[in-house]
Amino acid sequence: MAERYDCIIIGAGPAGLAAGLYAARDRFKMLLLEKFVPGGQINSTDRIENYPGFERISGYELTEKMQKQTVAFGGAIKTGAEVTALKKLSSSDIEISCDKDKYLARAVILAPGSDYRKLGIPGEDKFRNAGTGVSYCGTCDAPFFKGKSVVAIGGGNTALEETLHLCKFAAKVTLLHRRDEFRATKVLQEEFVAKSKEPNTNLLVKYSTVATAIEGKDRVESVRLKNVKTNNEESYPCDGVFIFVGMIPSTGFLKGFVELTDDGFIKCDFAHLRTNVPGVFVAGDCRVGAAMQLATATGDGANAAMMLKNYFRDSSWWNQPAGGGL
Ligand SMILES: Cc1cc2nc3c(=O)[nH]c(=O)nc-3n(C[C@H](O)[C@H](O)[C@H](O)COP(=O)(O)OP(=O)(O)OC[C@H]3O[C@@H](n4cnc5c(N)ncnc54)[C@H](O)[C@@H]3O)c2cc1C
Repeated sequence: MAERYDCIIIGAGPAGLAAGLYAARDRFKMLLLEKFVPGGQINSTDRIENYPGFERISGYELTEKMQKQTVAFGGAIKTGAEVTALKKLSSSDIEISCDKDKYLARAVILAPGSDYRKLGIPGEDKFRNAGTGVSYCGTCDAPFFKGKSVVAIGGGNTALEETLHLCKFAAKVTLLHRRDEFRATKVLQEEFVAKSKEPNTNLLVKYSTVATAIEGKDRVESVRLKNVKTNNEESYPCDGVFIFVGMIPSTGFLKGFVELTDDGFIKCDFAHLRTNVPGVFVAGDCRVGAAMQLATATGDGANAAMMLKNYFRDSSWWNQPAGGGL
């Protein structure tokens, strides 16, 4: 018979671990199911400088601290447990299926995160790390490229915002865009183009240009560029490459269970992180509108777990409007 929990949290990244800490401290019978090892995306970075309270910490060290804290308060974590399906059996029972096991829970917090969309070009995986020169997050890694020359890639809102952020640190920023006009909102495009036209600007834009390889010995030294109109190629020297071509949420297993956006993010109300399925909350990078940051993911986890009490106290709370905001 499937073991029954008050709350099951899916994914032990920063959002899931924070939710686990709060749920455990509330003395709920809870379980975190993680398909690999705890930590999620931050496991692949050795320097974090924007998590309050830590001037600099590696992802591995922060994960260890978060995990220890959650377990110290009675949180249970099962690793190697990939959730493949969920089913709402009754108003108080949700069935969660892993490869071999099944669990029951009154409430679920979905925190499976997401992953950066890759270009899939030679050198991208080899140098994937701010230390060796390839990054997917300007907000996280721009300060490591102070005074350096970097190439950014993309054409949407995130690409333009992150590129403008890079301009505050790098000596030279070259944005590559495969088309001859951006997809970003008009306002952002105007701000961007104005910046590129300032006297002595450090921002250069190369339209109709793609990167075909990232080159270097021990770290990034140049990018191979190709103009898609003329087919001309060149080796373009730089110290780093920032890839801003989108995120892929890890929500394939949730199709047909909760409402997702067209690009796979979980829909929710922003105040209480409720999905369209009563008893199912969401936290972190997998949700629509996520800021894709460590601090916001842990904030979401704490918020979702705090909301468990409202739902357990009175299940009709689920249908109450968030209220209070604009
Ligand atoms: C290289 C790198 C550097 C970064 N640097 C910074 C930084 O300096 N500062 C910053 O603020 N942010 C940084 N970020 C972003 C930050 O790591 C993310 O915003 C944050 O990890 C999101 O947390 P999350 O818990 O929502 O998702 P994730 O970290 O993606 O964790 C999700 C977890 O869920 C698990 N999972 C997925 N599907 C299932 C399933 N079906 N069953 C069970 N488990 C599942 C995954 O294995 C994973 O462990 C960085 C990201 C990367 C990749």
